[in-house]
Parts: sequence; C-alpha cells; structure tokens
Amino acid sequence: MGASLFLEANTPIPAPISQDPQASRGPAIAPYRSPGDPAAAPLRDVRYWPQGYYPGDPIPERTIYLTFDDGPCDFTAQVLDILKDEDVHATFFMNSYDKDDPFHADTGKNLLFRYADVLKRMVDEGHAIGNHTYSHRDLASLSPRQIDFQLDTLQRQLTEVLGDKTPRIYLIRPPFGSPWLGNWNTGEQREKVRVALENRGIVMLWTPGWDSSDSADWAKGEWYNASAKRYDPGSPSYELKMQREVNRILRRADGTAGGIILMHDTHPTSRDVLKLLIEELKRRGYGFGTLEDYARWRWGPNAFDRFAPEPSEAPPEK
Ligand SMILES: [Zn+2]
Repeated sequence: MGASLFLEANTPIPAPISQDPQASRGPAIAPYRSPGDPAAAPLRDVRYWPQGYYPGDPIPERTIYLTFDDGPCDFTAQVLDILKDEDVHATFFMNSYDKDDPFHADTGKNLLFRYADVLKRMVDEGHAIGNHTYSHRDLASLSPRQIDFQLDTLQRQLTEVLGDKTPRIYLIRPPFGSPWLGNWNTGEQREKVRVALENRGIVMLWTPGWDSSDSADWAKGEWYNASAKRYDPGSPSYELKMQREVNRILRRADGTAGGIILMHDTHPTSRDVLKLLIEELKRRGYGFGTLEDYARWRWGPNAFDRFAPEPSEAPPEK
C-alpha cells in the first residue's frame, strides 16, 4: 500500500499529524543527540544500573539499530522479508506467552512454538534475539524468583524450539523499560532488578525520540492478528498512523545522529513503513547494526565473554 504516499522524489512530504508540521520537513533537526564516543557514557550508580544502554548513553554516528519488541507474531515473517531485501540486520526482543490470546497462553504451544519457522529464519539470517521476558510483566513488581522465571522460561522455550541452533541470549529489554525509565520506581526496585539481570545479559533500552510510537494506539484496520476481522490495513487512520511513524523517526534522522529505534512487529503499520524507512535512512547516509554489534562497539569485542557458560569439564590435570 501507498508507501509512495510519503516520499516521492521531489514531492513535499504530506502534512504530518505532529504538533509541529515543520519539524518533519526539510533537513531534520535532532532534538536529542547521543554522544558518539563509547567512553562518554554518563556515570551511574552501579547499585541501581546494570551494564546497559540507557537514555543519554553514546551511539555511534550515522548508525541505526532497528529493534522490534513483543513478537513473534503473524507479521514477523514479512518484517524478515523486508530486512532481507534491504540487507539489514535487526534485533528482536521476544515474548513467548501470548498475552493477547488466553487460549494459547500456557499450553506449551505459545508464540515461540507457533512461529518456530520464523525464529529459525531469524537466526539463519543473522538477526539478534533478545529476551523481553516470558509474559511481558513489569519486573519492578515481581519477586526475584518471579524475575528469574520470566527470563529463564523465555530462554528455555527458545531452546526447545531451536535446539542446536539456539543462540545464547545476551540482550535483555525489560518490558516498559522498567524500572529504569520514568522516575516512579524506587531505588529498592531498581536494585532488585539489577541484581536479577546483571549476570544474565546486557540491558538495552532505546534512544529518546526514536520510539516509533507504534504502540501508542491501534489504528482502525490494524491488529496484531492477521486473521482477525478487524485487521483491514489501508483505512485512512491506518495510513495516518504510518505517516506519523515515518515522520517521528525521520525528524530525528539528520544524517549524523544515530539511534536505537523502537518498533513492534505486532503492529502491522510498522511492517508497512519499514521498507520506506530503511531506504530513506540509507539515502541519508545511515548504516544498520544489531544491538550485539552495538555492545561490541561500546564495550569491545569481548563484551559478552563474562556471560560465557562455565566449562562443562574440569581442566585436564597436569
Ligand atoms: Zn514490549
């Protein structure tokens, strides 16, 4: 559907629905600029902040990290098709419990099992997979045991689906960015989640201003399930939402400032803007990477070594 709606060559971008119509026209102005030097990260209290990417942290210039949360779902395979076509690698933060469909919730045939072929493709095609927890709970509200359950179950079920091909998951994105986004969480909550996460992987939030805002609402015609009656892409509000997503992201993309973009493969508007978005970002001089690439840029080629499993056999005796 009408991707050309947005950015025909030499055609003005249609009036966006943002508050500031000028903001998405012409050369973009980045209201938020991450430092481009990996050593320039702000100092944070290590009791509350495990190793990770948080707002204010450095991002390499001219680099985009596409991230997709809450899948896999009906649209993930099409997202993979577009990424393959464009030769771009992305990062998928996945859940396994189908929070929207109680009949699939806990039967062992949940999202990861249902979309096993999609997951295999994801690994084969070089994308990074991250842990977005089993059932998308706010970790700040859980006990340490429940947090362990949320992370372990996702990894275990992924292993059941992928077998030998299972990647070790080093990237964690806690649902809602909690307890590190916003200021309502207590130090105790942050410390509790920090302790639970820090030896499992690296926390990866997203860059302020680079949230596609796709999860802010459902447009008419948009739904997470392609066989649902209400799934009917192409409605005017669906196209408006696509336009809003494109505008929000391209407004920041001045050709220099990099960012970790947050999207959801559960929102088909994001699938439908993806090709246009990638091609326009490329045109503006951007390259793409996974968040595993990011971790190596920031913390060095051995960024993940501290998570290596213990050797299973005792070292040979001398
Ligand atoms: Zn999520």
